[in-house]
Amino acid sequence: MAEEDRSFKGFGFIDSHAHLADPAFDSDRVDVIQRAKANGAEAVICIGSGSGAGDVLGAARASESVALENPGFVWFTAGVHPHDASGFDHRNDIEAIRAHADRGAVGIGECGLDYHYDNSPRLEQRRAFAAQLALARECSLPVIVHTRDAEDDTAAMVAEAGQAGVRGVLHCYTGSHRLAEAGISAGWYVSFSGIVTFKKWTDDELLRLVPNERILAESDAPYLAPVPNRGKRNEPAWVSHTVARLAFARGVSNENMARTVADNARALFKLA
Ligand SMILES: [Zn+2]
Repeated sequence: MAEEDRSFKGFGFIDSHAHLADPAFDSDRVDVIQRAKANGAEAVICIGSGSGAGDVLGAARASESVALENPGFVWFTAGVHPHDASGFDHRNDIEAIRAHADRGAVGIGECGLDYHYDNSPRLEQRRAFAAQLALARECSLPVIVHTRDAEDDTAAMVAEAGQAGVRGVLHCYTGSHRLAEAGISAGWYVSFSGIVTFKKWTDDELLRLVPNERILAESDAPYLAPVPNRGKRNEPAWVSHTVARLAFARGVSNENMARTVADNARALFKLA
């Protein structure tokens, strides 16, 4: 009985951010998706960016394939990661992302700014991010934003996009309260990953600061597995642990928290 109480079966969360097309899942992707369903996942957003060397939209094509193989459960996005911004072609890559949007991508990204690693020059990161925000506006799609050590520029660009009617999510959020509040007042969502289950996590105030209708949960699989699976390859099934941690911080039931993040993911990504 106690074990059943800890189970999320039927609780219906949505993983708002997973790299299911990553080669880390090539050997057992079908099983990973099966386990996600068995553990209560109602959908997974498969993030189509971050391919690395040379082919900046390779991950978008791979994500579209995973979505096509799992209709109604896996949804895909397309975009260019800030790490890849220096390889971003402003004409061809935007047209390629637009073509993905026409074929059913539910979001643009992940894109954004990463001044921690600085894998691409900051000016090129801002240009690639701005181009994708503009495309999101044209396509009426939400934007999945990666931001690290770039709070002022992120806040400014998100606020401007918000004024233009663009919505999106600050994904795997671990930043300041100020940036979270800037996103929320722009009409955006904030998504938390397994990092909030780590022992070193201390900012439960941040977990309470996000309004009910703007909070999301994500795996960011294959990275950032939550406790008790920390250090392993992550998978969407384990978002249940992150949902439980959010529920604890916010003083609501696991079931209630799961329903909240699922409803919000459905609203943001307009899932059918
Ligand atoms: Zn990611």
